[in-house]
Amino acid sequence: MDGKFETTPCPLCSEDDHVLKYNFSPYRVVQCTHCGLHYVSPRLTEEAMLEFYRSGDYYGDDSEIGYSAYQQQEKSLRQTFRAVLRRLQKQGFTGGDLLELGCGWGYFLDEATPYYRSRTGTDYSQVAVEKASASGAEVIKGGLAELHPDTLFDSIVLIQVLEHIYDPVPFLETARTKLRPGGNITVVVPDWNTPFRWLLGKKWPAFKHPEHVCYYTNNTLGQALDRAGFTGSKTITYNHAFPLSMYLDLFGLKVPEWLGQVSVWIPFSCAARVAWT
Ligand SMILES: [Zn+2]
Repeated sequence: MDGKFETTPCPLCSEDDHVLKYNFSPYRVVQCTHCGLHYVSPRLTEEAMLEFYRSGDYYGDDSEIGYSAYQQQEKSLRQTFRAVLRRLQKQGFTGGDLLELGCGWGYFLDEATPYYRSRTGTDYSQVAVEKASASGAEVIKGGLAELHPDTLFDSIVLIQVLEHIYDPVPFLETARTKLRPGGNITVVVPDWNTPFRWLLGKKWPAFKHPEHVCYYTNNTLGQALDRAGFTGSKTITYNHAFPLSMYLDLFGLKVPEWLGQVSVWIPFSCAARVAWT
């Protein structure tokens, strides 16, 4: 990919004092000394990144970056989503009109069918829009800007999306304006504080460059939601199922294919918060 690179002040608090944490030349992961956010600087420009998301290669197996083996994770992802939907329902956060931003192939939208009155998804990839439409949800190509300006929702879900967003506070502010009074947003990101980052170092799977530009903890995710004007937020448990093969690959271990398909529940891999208007 023809890269165009830029350096940036902190995407969360706009200060420009940081310390280097990891060097993935030409990308560097730094930590803001003011708010504590970890972010990538230098990074690919947003224009170059959006061009890549629109290209349709993002979900393909032949791409060096993007969701390789995304399909192979389908079973585990669906289990993960069913568990979080049950949890959201128990806490009273389901039931109305749902919007999922960055819906991928629509596994969450599909699993969400019994939990919401209506379901809408967005994704920049045409392939994703076509696949996700099979869930019966309305799926729009693009993002927040492509939604009809008068359409409001009761719940917004962002799963593994915010870490891709260059300006998270204005993004979350705009999302908030799409919620009815009393509405809620669920945000799930890779957790910077996961023990897997300590174990795996630079092989931590959430280190995906150029597409991940911010890395959150529960604390910095809460700060982002506060700055975006949400009234309050709280953490929710988000255990993630992975195929055993994917987990063992990280440690260079192989198992027979039938065994590799077994789902393993991994706690502490994601930070998740629900915020309300
Ligand atoms: Zn900061």
